[in-house]
Amino acid sequence: MKKKEAVIDTEPSYGPAPLFILSFRQRDELAELAAGAGWRVVAARRAAGAERRFLTSGAAVAVIDARGALGEGREAASAIGGAIAANGGALLALVSRGDTTAIGDFYDAGATHFLASPFSEGEFLQALRYAARHAERMAGEWRATAPAEPLGWRLDVTTRSLLLTPGFARLLDVDEHPKLVALWRRIDPTERRAAMASIRRLSATRQATAFAHDLPGLGRIVQHLQYDVKTGRIDALVEPLGSAPEPASVLRDALIGTRDAGSARRWMDRRLADPDGRPLTAMLVALNRFDMVNAAYGRAAGDALLRAAFKRIEEAASGALVARLGGSEFLVAIEDGGSRVDLVAERIVGDLARPFVTGETIAVLGCRIGVAGREPGDTAASLLRRASEALADARASDSATVRVAEAGGREESIDVLAVELRHAIDRREIDILFQPQVSVPTGAIVGVEALARWDHMLLGTIGADILFAAATRADLEIGLSDHIQRITLERAAAWPAALHGLRLSLNLTAGDIARPGFADLFLDRVDASGFPRSRLTVEIVESGLIEDLGMAATLLATLRSAGVRVAIDDFGTGYSSLAYLKSLPLDYLKIDKKLAQDITGTPRDRVVVRGVIDMARSLGLVVIAEGVETQEQLDLLAKEGCQIYQGFLRSGAISIGALVGLMETAP
Ligand code: C2E
Ligand code: CA
Ligand code: CA
Repeated sequence: MKKKEAVIDTEPSYGPAPLFILSFRQRDELAELAAGAGWRVVAARRAAGAERRFLTSGAAVAVIDARGALGEGREAASAIGGAIAANGGALLALVSRGDTTAIGDFYDAGATHFLASPFSEGEFLQALRYAARHAERMAGEWRATAPAEPLGWRLDVTTRSLLLTPGFARLLDVDEHPKLVALWRRIDPTERRAAMASIRRLSATRQATAFAHDLPGLGRIVQHLQYDVKTGRIDALVEPLGSAPEPASVLRDALIGTRDAGSARRWMDRRLADPDGRPLTAMLVALNRFDMVNAAYGRAAGDALLRAAFKRIEEAASGALVARLGGSEFLVAIEDGGSRVDLVAERIVGDLARPFVTGETIAVLGCRIGVAGREPGDTAASLLRRASEALADARASDSATVRVAEAGGREESIDVLAVELRHAIDRREIDILFQPQVSVPTGAIVGVEALARWDHMLLGTIGADILFAAATRADLEIGLSDHIQRITLERAAAWPAALHGLRLSLNLTAGDIARPGFADLFLDRVDASGFPRSRLTVEIVESGLIEDLGMAATLLATLRSAGVRVAIDDFGTGYSSLAYLKSLPLDYLKIDKKLAQDITGTPRDRVVVRGVIDMARSLGLVVIAEGVETQEQLDLLAKEGCQIYQGFLRSGAISIGALVGLMETAP
């Protein structure tokens, strides 16, 4: 090998084509090799932040060297797989010979090319060239010569029997006599209507027509139709317009039967080429924790989950174009902007937060979303790149599920609030309200949950979500959490006698749990306040626990043996599994409001809620339903065996004075 220094660079520039290489090896001879062959190499060594680095590198081709580092390689592939698909790039995965069975995982994550060791330098460079050609083709710079075989079909209108040319059948991966409806399903709903109308126009006086649409795997095609009145037959000739068939995307599409990334990009490019400047928004939706489910329950469950997720997204975004990109990422393209987009994002977040039932397991995924709106001069590539960056930001954030690429209003205001928060704590602007927890069978108030508010001088009351988002931005999460715990305990210790029978529930943050020595610090704080340990419950969200299950279990066990009870919060919004719940010392399970409200939903929704309640009770946990707003919800939850509830039906979070008043009227 020629000894040449690899050019390490992170800024996109002109000149040699950039190549992104992620290697976990001490010495990265492949980078040197590629640099020697004329690539401008951008090297990375960790999966964390890889997506961002790939995006800023400007590279269309990425290499992940997973030889001897299968786990890290997989992680890296799923980190950048979505960005590769969204930007029409190529991803070459290098795996050890013994690991070739994992190729499917890489493929699912968005890898487009593979090379198994041992391979020669020449083979590596060759694979790079293939990957680059693929990326060029994806970028639309490569025009296919029309396939030699005729593509088309014939329909007998009276018998409805359909015959495909062998080439077309092979391309669509169906037999030569498929059902008509199976073909219609291959056409995106946004274009299906126009195609149907076009066929309906055929008559004795109008015997020819044509319509264009995208076909996954084939790109943009025109169908030329000829109607023969005498025989009652329609003959169609299919003419591909754009790029050549992409076998990879045919396979990927087959999974959920939808548009592939390339066809979605072409669709967006056509909309953007329209000079009327109508709004167009690209939304990238990434499922959380999909890899864990895939690993734990297998490919079949993973595929079923992707299909179910796709369906929920399509329903939530009705009217928009939805395509699956690599791995567990989806593109939603909306011909609109502003509040309609907010609404769609909100709906998708809500719908994906609901649990998925796959076989024996209840998997809860959730998602992150990156959004970018059309700007003057945008192409699909530039728009998607901004959406990818927004998604990378959302992924890097603890608190934001949705990030919008432009400097939007909320983003800005959180930055301002973050600066003010430090003073707000000093000025005692943080207040604590208490939400009653009510016994389902008796209707008596048995406890309260402390919820923080910010009484902002200018803006009035600011809710906990924005308060914590500001704290995250200001890197003040621990400081805020400390402050809230102190004042909550102080106030609860001074409660009037009327409240002495109540339990107090306190929320801990993920940051608290991860803090070394937190259990002792917390117990000291409780004792110093004078509030009895025996009436205290801490609430912990699942996502905070899963980071380090062993450490979390130790912390919870310490708190419990000190007399404090433990609740798992927001159950149904994080990754949930029976095995995992079993391994933790818990007293209560709080069903998240979205899940609890599903009790009045479809029979299928109800099965999930019932399953969760049964499961919790079989583990000896007391079930608390959150967000109960109607009597109907309460009645059904009661029937399923839920023991305690919280919600606006009884009361939101209120002051101590109001709480005393409420206690007087309580049964
Ligand atoms: P959470 O712990 O799940 O708290 C329940 C949230 O649901 C509260 O929002 C509460 O006001 C709201 N809620 C209660 N009943 C209903 C209902 O019937 N319908 C609906 N739609 N919502 C209801 P809030 O106070 O904005 O708190 C949001 C989240 O912020 C909390 O979720 C919790 O994770 C966090 N948080 C709030 N206060 C604190 C705190 O003092 N410390 C910590 N660490 N986190 C807090
Ligand atoms: Ca809570
Ligand atoms: Ca909750």
